[in-house]
Amino acid sequence: MVDVQVTIWIQGKDVAAKDVKDSRVRAALTQMGKDLGQKLQGVKCPTHGGEAKDVRVKIDKAGNGDLRYDACCPELSKLIAKATG
Ligand SMILES: [Zn+2]
Repeated sequence: MVDVQVTIWIQGKDVAAKDVKDSRVRAALTQMGKDLGQKLQGVKCPTHGGEAKDVRVKIDKAGNGDLRYDACCPELSKLIAKATG
């Protein structure tokens, strides 16, 4: 499974999912990371064969997630957008 780092903006800073004190929020964020990791599993660039790297999701104050990752080229980015959309 692709490793996804989930962080949430709490009181002016990014907090990693595992460091969130509220256990329900922590569980929800952890699950979100797992779900994304599963969606990204097997998504590979047809040209370079690479996967998404350094995948992270930032949740803002409004609860919106912002997915970021490193991709070798726009083609892989397109596949990732399709897989996670
Ligand atoms: Zn590529």
